[in-house]
Amino acid sequence: MKAKDYRSPLEPVWCTGCGDFGVLKGLTQALADLEIPPERLAVISGIGCSSRLPGYTRSYSFNSIHGRALPIATGLKVSRPEITTLVVGGDGDGFSIGLGHLPHAIRRNVDLTYAVLDNGIYGLTKGQSSPTTEVDFKISRGLAGPDERPLNPVLLVLSSGCGFVARSHAGNLPHLREIMREAIRYPGFSFVHVLAGCVTYQTPSYAQEIYQRCDVLPPEYDSTNLTAAMEAARAERFQLGILYRRDPEIPEQAAAEAVGVAGVWQARTGADRVIEDVAHEE
Ligand code: SF4
Repeated sequence: MKAKDYRSPLEPVWCTGCGDFGVLKGLTQALADLEIPPERLAVISGIGCSSRLPGYTRSYSFNSIHGRALPIATGLKVSRPEITTLVVGGDGDGFSIGLGHLPHAIRRNVDLTYAVLDNGIYGLTKGQSSPTTEVDFKISRGLAGPDERPLNPVLLVLSSGCGFVARSHAGNLPHLREIMREAIRYPGFSFVHVLAGCVTYQTPSYAQEIYQRCDVLPPEYDSTNLTAAMEAARAERFQLGILYRRDPEIPEQAAAEAVGVAGVWQARTGADRVIEDVAHEE
């Protein structure tokens, strides 16, 4: 199948020039690369401009309720593990309304791929500031919360123990295609931060500025190094690529403790040891 065969007959209603078009294209190209049968594919979203994306794919698509895509997708995947299950949504849906679900999806490590299309604004509700809106932008546009610093999504998921963390840009199609392909292939929870401009409420020039602030990680970058990933996540410029990919065979707590960044992990408890003993006996 070709990428176009993963498109549904529905015509997108996004504004001309919206970054979400690029994500739809990169995603369908990745699905074609992986030859995933549409009858074994589900795309789940919450609410927002980018959450319309499932309807434009040839899949079992579900444009669900605000911020609740992750628990819905988790339920689907654990009951039908043979279905490749993708989750898409925006920064408001994922990092505000739905944020409470994210660390739990990560620690459960169900085999989902979650792509957040981050344009740093609420587009569908006409341009309010979101959890990732930059301070300078809020001040220049007179948006609410200029003294609230934006969230760093990549740092958040890394410190929550996510085994696959990547970033791409909707305007860099070959890169996005490769990143989505690798994220879907990863056997566990994978997170992709996609910078996708909103030409209507973010302005075309600002969207272009974001694109120019991106650097692709160099070939020598070691994506198994969690400390390096955290440094890349904190960098002033947006680092694109697979920032972190843990060997799926290595337990997440062990990987985090090995580099001394086990910040959010509870110390091992008696219950952990009982679980391990039971698993060992089996
Ligand atoms: Fe895209 Fe922004 Fe238009 Fe929504 S409002 S469709 S995010 S350009």
